[in-house]
Amino acid sequence: MIPHWDVERRKMVESQLRRRAIRDERVLAAMLEIPRERFVPPEARLYSYDDGPVPIGWGQTISQPYMTALMAESLELSGRETVLEIGAGSGYAAAVLGALAARVVTIEIVPALAGMARENLRRAGRDGNVTVVCGDGSLGYPDLAPYDAISVAAGAPDLPPALLGQLNDPGRLVIPVGEWDDQELRVVVKRGGAVDERVAAMCRFVPLRGSEGWR
Ligand code: SAH
Repeated sequence: MIPHWDVERRKMVESQLRRRAIRDERVLAAMLEIPRERFVPPEARLYSYDDGPVPIGWGQTISQPYMTALMAESLELSGRETVLEIGAGSGYAAAVLGALAARVVTIEIVPALAGMARENLRRAGRDGNVTVVCGDGSLGYPDLAPYDAISVAAGAPDLPPALLGQLNDPGRLVIPVGEWDDQELRVVVKRGGAVDERVAAMCRFVPLRGSEGWR
């Protein structure tokens, strides 16, 4: 039987997001709007609305819906921002961010995934304000800096200095920092020249690679 995706998506928003206290109505609306099943490869599509990460090939995953929502919420987007995402994967979170901000640039280090993300975004009609770049995002993307918000979707050993440098003032950044397979999700806020940090959750992301990531 072919799942009714709209029903699955509504259930996901209620049982995985609202119930776990995602409160930003714009984030909930974006998660209800973006067809997550279009960002999951055909062989795993049945698991599109599972309460966990799903493999997308090349040893990578599409993050758990709750984690995507939590990261988006912690960026406190109003719709006017330019956002940088590190780690496009199949493009899902970039599509969600695109629904919440003015412009999104997402960097992906695996060329085949960058191609997949671009294609998924185009087919879902979400490529109007989302650009996929292939490269090492641990150095950020200076061409369009500064960014009002930065979302890092892979676990880093530390906060890469280049990312903090490319963050606008005021600006917000979210990043998993810690061990190879076990991190804390840090929310970094730059305001009035000062930088504040808090831990939003414990998490387990795939490792950030590249020159400021894991070798
Ligand atoms: N944003 C995704 C999650 C992708 S998983 C979602 O929509 O759920 C993290 C991705 O980060 C992987 O595709 C991995 O290849 C990529 N990645 C790892 N290190 C990177 C780096 N230094 N620069 C860019 N992408 C990187």
